[in-house]
Amino acid sequence: MSRIRVLDPSVIGKIRAGEVVDRPAAAVKELVENAIDAGSSLIAIHAASSPERSVRVQDDGAGMSREDALLALRPHATSKIESADDLSRIRTLGFRGEALASIAEVSRLSLSTRSSEDLTGTQVEALGGAVIQVSGVGRSVGTTVLVEDLFFNTPARLRFLKSREAEIRVLSRVVWNYALTYPRVHWRFSVEGREDTDLPEARDLVERWEVLYGRGSEDGSAEFDHEAGGVHVSGVLGAPEQARASRDYQTFAVNGRVVSSATLAAALRQGFGNLLPGDRYPLALVMIEIDPGQVDANVHPTKREVRFRDEARVFQVLRRAVEASMRQHVPSGISFGDAGQVGEPGSGAGGYHAASGGASPMAALANKASGTEAESGGALLLALGATPAGPAEAAEREGGDVAESLGEPEIEIWQLHDRYLLAPIRGGLVIVDQHAAHERILYEEARAHLYSGTA
Ligand code: ADP
Ligand code: MG
Repeated sequence: MSRIRVLDPSVIGKIRAGEVVDRPAAAVKELVENAIDAGSSLIAIHAASSPERSVRVQDDGAGMSREDALLALRPHATSKIESADDLSRIRTLGFRGEALASIAEVSRLSLSTRSSEDLTGTQVEALGGAVIQVSGVGRSVGTTVLVEDLFFNTPARLRFLKSREAEIRVLSRVVWNYALTYPRVHWRFSVEGREDTDLPEARDLVERWEVLYGRGSEDGSAEFDHEAGGVHVSGVLGAPEQARASRDYQTFAVNGRVVSSATLAAALRQGFGNLLPGDRYPLALVMIEIDPGQVDANVHPTKREVRFRDEARVFQVLRRAVEASMRQHVPSGISFGDAGQVGEPGSGAGGYHAASGGASPMAALANKASGTEAESGGALLLALGATPAGPAEAAEREGGDVAESLGEPEIEIWQLHDRYLLAPIRGGLVIVDQHAAHERILYEEARAHLYSGTA
């Protein structure tokens, strides 16, 4: 007798559902993506304080006919692709036709919907994947999906859920990420017992960013937009001094799909270079637009990860764009390289280096304090943003030429432990290690000799 058996369809359904929906936030993500695909201009999400008990996503998108509403709950039923070829042309967030079926499999699901062609809507009730009731309903055009008692029939999954606060936090991140990525959509988000969030349609990414990250961040954040080699990167970066201890406030979207990507996270981090200590993560919204044929979203059933055909190129384009944008935050003449390496003279990769040349701010500082006639710059260890000064303003005042402003007599320079020079810059503090600066000067001189053939 064989020991292998083909599993019962209901078991298969639960296994498959487990891949797509592992927690309430995953269900919300799928429902929100469906609402976006349906062209909604208003998306409202409500969660019970224990979100596995109940979450509801309501939209004013295209809605469905009765026939479609029933098909939508079947596994591998989708209106978004037809053939395997379509996989390389995906413009929608969904395409697997698995989400609604998976959620329905492990919950009590109620779907209410109406398309603009229908006078009455349809309500479908399902329990553990089986449709138990279909009825007509009066409602506006759009769709509402209510998911209750998630994992009621998969108790093992239920036990793996974190505290309700933690589940709400993850769920909120999903909504937050999509609200940032889709500023033209009016979002409403409410959690039982908490204050509601209402985000009316915003003009653009920056306006939405300001609303979510606070007005104060408006000054310190920088918009960026850059295209190279068929990769369009754009978004908003928080100022270095706003960086956090976790990656929670970084949103990456590829062709409108919120994803997590080690490649993009690394490119962002490297773009900031040594503007940040290694354990701080910048606030960021990074949008990548790329030919759908160049990216594979079908890596995982949750579509949370993507793979780029030319990973290196996407990495480079993003890193450079972030780097260029961050230059506005540091005084001109200071270059910054790869994160994690502290300035080794001439490596061109570590620490801040003052650009060589007499006009560099570091040279100005070094000259002023030590009285040397050094022509080239020293090593700047750290620029700490103390106050959230506006980059535009700051760039205007000091970014243009810090050396000039440092050369003004009223600029104060302090010396600490006979070793460090400290000088205020707008929105921050420059600290120079004199010893390192001196080495740097000697190095630059030696190099200059070498290249002029006199050494
Ligand atoms: P997918 O999104 O991958 O196609 P889903 O299971 O999420 O698969 O949804 C199945 C189908 O149901 C979708 O292709 C779409 O046609 C329809 N649908 C789901 N949600 C909505 C919605 N909010 N508004 C309109 N149609 C929807
Ligand atoms: Mg979907």
